[in-house]
Amino acid sequence: MSTAIVRTVHHRIDGRETAGQSNRTAPVWNPATGERQANVLLAGPADIDAAVKAAHEAFPGWADTSVMRRSRLMFAFRNLVEKHLDDLARIVSAEHGKVLDDARGELIRGLEVIDFACGIPHLLKGEYSDQVSTDIDLFSFRQPLGVCAGIAPFNFPAMVPMWMHPIAIATGNTFVLKPSERAPSTSNFVAELYAEAGLPDGVFNVVHGDKVAVDAILDHPDIAAVSFVGSTPIARYVHARATASGKRVQALGGAKNHAVVLPDADLDYAAEHLIAGGYGSAGQRCMAISVAVAVGDVAEPLVELMRVKAQAIKIGPGLEAASEMGPVVSREALERIRGYISSGIDAGADLVVDGREVDVQGDGFFVGPTLFDRVTPEMDLYRDEIFGPVLVVVRVDSLEDAIDLINDNNWANGTAIFTASGQAARLFQRSVQVGMIGVNVPVPVPMAFYSFGGWKQSLFGAHHIHGPEGVAFYTHAKAVTTRWPEETKAGNHRSHLHFPTAV
Ligand code: NAD
Repeated sequence: MSTAIVRTVHHRIDGRETAGQSNRTAPVWNPATGERQANVLLAGPADIDAAVKAAHEAFPGWADTSVMRRSRLMFAFRNLVEKHLDDLARIVSAEHGKVLDDARGELIRGLEVIDFACGIPHLLKGEYSDQVSTDIDLFSFRQPLGVCAGIAPFNFPAMVPMWMHPIAIATGNTFVLKPSERAPSTSNFVAELYAEAGLPDGVFNVVHGDKVAVDAILDHPDIAAVSFVGSTPIARYVHARATASGKRVQALGGAKNHAVVLPDADLDYAAEHLIAGGYGSAGQRCMAISVAVAVGDVAEPLVELMRVKAQAIKIGPGLEAASEMGPVVSREALERIRGYISSGIDAGADLVVDGREVDVQGDGFFVGPTLFDRVTPEMDLYRDEIFGPVLVVVRVDSLEDAIDLINDNNWANGTAIFTASGQAARLFQRSVQVGMIGVNVPVPVPMAFYSFGGWKQSLFGAHHIHGPEGVAFYTHAKAVTTRWPEETKAGNHRSHLHFPTAV
């Protein structure tokens, strides 16, 4: 039996690492080897309370800090994240399993949100209307909410929290982050970088945990808003419970993203991008393509191209430069994905590439690219979010049938179309009931200066995340109507009991 002492991932509250008050922990696995690489503390309500207290006390000073100082701090933080991008990518890869280039990619997309937050003086500019009524002016501006909390999934340990905290903090809020207990260490490093940038203690806090910590956040009376990203059942639960306790909530859920391939598409281009969108990050992306919709007679040549490309993917540990696809996050995920492959065979779908046959040394959580053809909408393989490297092909007769298939589905995060026809693309983008659409772009994640979010069961709450909707989510609007009566003007003191109207 090994006696090696594993590292413990602590909370970071009020500028300090702390062991907190709960003695519960969870293992942090190395998905490439199957070994436990650390233990993470699991917070109890007292730890959440300590973090919220620190954030609550830091709020008045931070909210009053001038917008230019907040912007400069974001610049300093941005430069530190850029300087340590490779260090952060290695931490992400070690705990999540994704390959280093992919981890760098998520860091760059996170950095873009920090870039956006650096422009906060411009983003917080209000409106002003002169002389809306005689001697009356009207202006509006936005103010921070208070303590905001973020609850994050495992699959983007750096980027998804960065969708939240840079904008929350730049707009003058303080923040409590509860990262995924499966990939916790990146957030502690990010907290160190904020401190090095000069962020006052208590403005950004990290508390690790599971459902117990989440419930304590959802019920805490001093938290004003909750941003959640994760699976649909938990998003629905978080939205309902936090809304019931009076909070502003944005809760982004799971996905099943369809990509439609029309007969006029460049099939090699489409196959290449379906493979990248389906198997990048071992399919563990909310914007992964999990359903390829083959229209008309494209199915045979498309599936053949996809088969060849899927079988050529190099699978191995994320930290090894030659690897193109790493393991999935946990043994539980591995078993779930294998179960779906068996259920697809049982349901009568054609298994074209079997990921269970992967050949990687050791006890890591590896499952290879898996491709099914002739999948139908009743199959679990089609209905459920598998969240692994399983791509299914559904055959339909027309673009209209493809649109109906997408709109009959309750997942509505992203979708894509491959075509050479502008008219078909326009019909598609106008008709599908989905939040983010790619035209010949398989993973249409909007840039940070737009907002990100799905429809239907992929989003609970009115606000998409980051971009302009992020600024709106983390701020209250205020409208001020002013008059400065001149004592010398006759009649300026007169008022009426009727509802005020412009004169
Ligand atoms: P998850 O829902 O299991 O966990 C997300 C967070 O919720 C974690 O912090 C976790 O600790 C917490 N949590 C888990 N179970 C809970 C419970 N019973 N009660 C309260 N809190 C609980 O999600 P995951 O497996 O970490 O991440 C993958 C999921 O996230 C996928 O469904 C994926 O599609 C989704 N996702 C969505 C987006 C998006 O933008 N829509 C982005 C990334 C990931």
